[in-house]
Order: sequence, then structure tokens, then C-alpha cells
Amino acid sequence: MTKQERAVVVFSGGQDSTTCLFWAKERFAGVEAVTFDYGQRHKRELEVAAEIAKELGVKHHVLDMSLLNQLAPNALTRTDIAIEQKEGELPTTFVDGRNLLFLTFAAVLAKQAGAKHIVTGVCETDFSGYPDCRDVFIKSLNVTLNLAMDYPFAIDTPLMWLNKEQTWELADRLGAFDFVRERTLTCYNGVVADGCGECPACKLRKRGLDDYLASSGRGAQS
Ligand SMILES: [Zn+2]
Repeated sequence: MTKQERAVVVFSGGQDSTTCLFWAKERFAGVEAVTFDYGQRHKRELEVAAEIAKELGVKHHVLDMSLLNQLAPNALTRTDIAIEQKEGELPTTFVDGRNLLFLTFAAVLAKQAGAKHIVTGVCETDFSGYPDCRDVFIKSLNVTLNLAMDYPFAIDTPLMWLNKEQTWELADRLGAFDFVRERTLTCYNGVVADGCGECPACKLRKRGLDDYLASSGRGAQS
């Protein structure tokens, strides 16, 4: 296996990337996390990421990506833009080029850290139309990064083909179910754990959690 290799995890402090962090810690000899500060609506997101990284004993990098908001104002950073999705359009949370930029910066960092692996929680299964979450894009970028930096990166996407229920199952298999449930921040309104319950991110998370609790029998235990 790859136990002697190192990895950098693209990390937001949310359910998906925290599950990826546990996944990477199990798999690799050394793991570092990178969080991007792009002027999120809720600074809490950056605090949560820092807290989790510290607790898991992972070196944590925070990179200033505020230029992204300068380029493309969007609902993740601007309170005057509502989070919504119109029929046949991308949701207003989409930022052109975000994963392209994040993964490219993560790669620069990874090479400096002597890490070959870049881990990201992108997922095509609950595809909300983000073109740079698609597997074909990740594979294309992987080739581009290797050519650009003459370095054998491997971009790992452990959640690519999992639905939200299966992502909870993976967290459970990694012994991280309670941690992910209680400590992560997915909510667009900045509420940790079960969140506000109203925003699209909370609804998606809750649906997956309810499905997993029902299918695993965990719901009956707690
Ligand atoms: Zn919410």
C-alpha cells in the first residue's frame, strides 16, 4: 500500500472533507490539510477547520484566496446574493474555476511538503451541476498538474461515487461517525453539527444521515 507516502487534504471543516481527512490519516504516513480563505460568509468555517485539524494532529495551512471573490461574487461570500438554484442553471453557490484554483494551489503546497497525494471530497453522485466536481475534470487536471510541475501527483477522490448515505457509512467505517456528526460545519448559515436545518446544505446532509441511521440501525441505538 501507500502507507509511506504523504498527502495534502483540501479541507473546509465540513462533513465531506473531514471524512476525507480521516480517510487520508488511515492511509498515509503524513497528512497535512489546506483550507482556503475566500471571504466565506461565516468565519466560523475557518475556525472549525482549524479546530479539527489541531485535534487530529494535522498540520494546517490557510491560504488567502480572497481574489476569488474579487473575480466572481457569489452566494457563498455575499449576503446580498440568495442561495438558490433555478431550473436548468447552476446554483448561485457555484464559483467558476474554484476547484481548478484550489487544487492547483494545493498541488504547489503538496510538492513543497513532499506529498504526492492530493485528497479532495468532490463528488459526482449528488451532482448539483458543478462542472469541476466531475471525475473527468479531476483526471484531466491530474494530468495537467503532473505536466506543469513535472511531478507524479495522484489526486484521490474517495467520495466521488458515494451518495450522502454512503459518505456517512465511510465515516463510520473509519471510526469517525460521531466526530463528523458533532464537529463539522456544512450549513450555509454557519451552524455546526446538525446545522440550521433550513438551508440546502443542511437538508442534503440530513437526508443522507437519516438514510444511514435507518439502514445501519444506528438510529435505534441513539
Ligand atoms: Zn443550514
